[in-house]
Amino acid sequence: MQIASVIVDVPTMRTDKTYDYLIPEEWKDRIYAGTRVSVPFGPRSIQGFVLDIRDHSDINKLKEIIEPLDLTPVLNKELLQLGHWLTESTLCLKVSAYQAMLPSAMKAKYKKILHLVSNTHDPNLQKIFGQKDEIMWEEAEERKALPFLQKEVKKGNVEVRYVVKSKGNKKMIRIFHLLLSREELENILLSYPNNAIKQKSILECFIKIGKDKLTINEITEATGATLASVRPLVQKGYLMEKQEEVYRDPYENRVFKRTEALKLTEEQQKAIDPIMHTIEEKKHETFLLYGVTGSGKTEVYLQSIQRVLDNGKEAIVLVPEISLTPQMVHRFKGRFGDDVAVLHSGLSVGEHYDEWRKIQRKEVKVVVGARSAIFAPFENLGIIIIDEEHETSYKQEENPRYHARDVAIFRGNYHKCPVILGSATPSLESFARAQKGVYTLLTMNRRMNNKELPNVSIVDMREELREGNRSIFSRELFSKLQDRLEKKQQTVLFLNKRGYSSFVMCRDCGFVIQCPHCDISLTYHRHSNQMKCHYCGYEDLVPTTCPECNSEHIRYFGTGTQKVEEEIGKLLPEARVIRMDVDTTSRKGAHEKLLQQFQEGKADILLGTQMIAKGLDFPNITLVGVLSADTMLHLPDFRSSEKTFQLLTQVSGRAGRHELEGEVVIQTYTPEHYSIELAGTQDYNRFYKQEMIMRKIGSYPPFYYLALITVSHEELMKVVSTTEKITKFIRSKISEDSVILGPVTSPIPRINNRYRYQCLIKYKREPDLAKNLRLVLEHFGTSKQSEGLTISIDVNPYMMM
Ligand code: ADP
Ligand code: ZN
Ligand code: ZN
Repeated sequence: MQIASVIVDVPTMRTDKTYDYLIPEEWKDRIYAGTRVSVPFGPRSIQGFVLDIRDHSDINKLKEIIEPLDLTPVLNKELLQLGHWLTESTLCLKVSAYQAMLPSAMKAKYKKILHLVSNTHDPNLQKIFGQKDEIMWEEAEERKALPFLQKEVKKGNVEVRYVVKSKGNKKMIRIFHLLLSREELENILLSYPNNAIKQKSILECFIKIGKDKLTINEITEATGATLASVRPLVQKGYLMEKQEEVYRDPYENRVFKRTEALKLTEEQQKAIDPIMHTIEEKKHETFLLYGVTGSGKTEVYLQSIQRVLDNGKEAIVLVPEISLTPQMVHRFKGRFGDDVAVLHSGLSVGEHYDEWRKIQRKEVKVVVGARSAIFAPFENLGIIIIDEEHETSYKQEENPRYHARDVAIFRGNYHKCPVILGSATPSLESFARAQKGVYTLLTMNRRMNNKELPNVSIVDMREELREGNRSIFSRELFSKLQDRLEKKQQTVLFLNKRGYSSFVMCRDCGFVIQCPHCDISLTYHRHSNQMKCHYCGYEDLVPTTCPECNSEHIRYFGTGTQKVEEEIGKLLPEARVIRMDVDTTSRKGAHEKLLQQFQEGKADILLGTQMIAKGLDFPNITLVGVLSADTMLHLPDFRSSEKTFQLLTQVSGRAGRHELEGEVVIQTYTPEHYSIELAGTQDYNRFYKQEMIMRKIGSYPPFYYLALITVSHEELMKVVSTTEKITKFIRSKISEDSVILGPVTSPIPRINNRYRYQCLIKYKREPDLAKNLRLVLEHFGTSKQSEGLTISIDVNPYMMM
């Protein structure tokens, strides 16, 4: 008796456990751990993941598995373990952990197709398949052919294929196989009726091209014949028509020029040596490659990967979604050609699925991708690289709320291979770990060719206002803009705008209203004209005069890209502007197209949000302007200074990467803030020291760990009382060294008519916390009174809202 323990695709706390199913006799020894199966569950049949195969069960009457959905398991041993670890460390449902590792096409519905594998001449099979090599499952069922076909499946003559119904599909192309030998073909041609010119020329083209299978496109190209003239040849038994799979390649029309390894600089060599060493030693070690923008980190990645490939192993490279620009893809495809698969969210579900299958079938050795590519099903990993490791997009903001860095380290440990975290502005957490020796620090201080970092000038916008300039451009930035227009050089204008970046600021003195208890800016709420602290709940009315300088110019702050574009239109009507924000880039490929246009010099100014901060490496950019450096600084988030520093440093790095000198103008209302001042001098080390002091004072990471509990429901009272109960429970379970902030309204107090409350736990060491948090989830996720409640727990949160 074989029994499978199955996780079913019913995403509730109540069903978050394995269920035992009997493996039917015909599938004995053919269903493995990691195989997806369909199982009866209540009145329905649903999908599930087999976690384990056993020979006994404690349950008496077991139901049978209906059938497997995979012929080879989609999750290998490592990924099964990883899923378990994800469940424990992020407190997510088991089924979400396993689904997160697979392309979303695998979640979809399937239709089944019976596929003829070999060119058998068995008349029974021929009767069923006719001239085709595939029939639908339902068709076979109708014709009562299934029992017969089942035997053929076992013999290996027929295969069951699962084709995604709605979401993406394998791309098939029509291929014609020649069923005649060369001799037979020539004989037939000799006596071929002269009026069948098309058919004749089709047969001839098989000889001319010298292949025994041709796609319909090849045939049409060679002869001008269409499908209609090919079909009679199939009927006559000369050709066989087949549907064959081709991969959708989103980069198929691009040629990637092959690049050779560059001779490393002394600095690069010093950085790569310890990496090469761990590769050779087959050791796991996490490196933090801290290299200023333009110091040549990518070349270090490329040559480390080369070594890994030479050793017969595989590589994963993560880059932020935003920088998966053709430029970045180019650098990897250029070096490793077809060995590279690219995974990013711009791919259709089908394209994504194809790339994933290339990995599973071991047809590629390198994956370059955004966050979820960390789950690439390689079995022989030799290196994992995370570029721009400080990017918060590596943290998934829905279940499972994992951080790709943690997954990378788990996998690096499993495969005994190095993990490289690269950045010009490492996250505070990573740099602190490198200081403590948990990670190995590798430093590259110099830009290639010793190019100077661009000159940064910080403009005090309060001063501008005092002098009567009410424009969004300071006089300095405006005159530089004019200058670049005349010189026909390009400018990047950066506007940092986030949905919730509304805070109240005095335009005369730059004073921002903060919470008296939390040292965090209050968030402006337009409808009530109130300001609120999203950590402790403090609230106040917007003052009519500035508490600092008594000016009346105190108000809510925020500007959109569209408004800036209009403003440029008024002030510099001759300037050609490309605007890049969520609105102009939502269409597939739009992002790339706009960048392409800018690169080709079709615009003078590139105006955009976050998304233009990275990856841009164009020689003609000589000016970078940051319109308001403050918007991010006052987000209700303890990382706001860090994010501001990182962003300003990244943006500044866009200018002057090539021959022409670059300049950066940063406009701000708080030039004295250390994150702005130090971004001006690109002094990461001083920033790190200063920010560590602030984190220590505030008891924030990396000195403390955080866990954020958010409760939501349609009824406010229910939310409040539940959050209170949870807070009380957690408080009774943790030590006195830990801190709980809350219960308090979430920064976004209501989403979709659901009220939201939260509590934030700060702790250094709480070995039982995960267990207790899980208890919270179980209790409120399964009891009757908690109908409709959503409780989400984010361990190590990055979104504080
Ligand atoms: P980073 O990723 O650190 O910002 P890049 O990898 O983009 O820096 O490198 C900046 C530029 O220097 C690129 O154009 C790259 O091709 C070039 N480069 C890198 N390493 C070398 C080298 N050893 N010799 C010559 N040029 C190099
Ligand atoms: Zn003021
Ligand atoms: Zn507060």
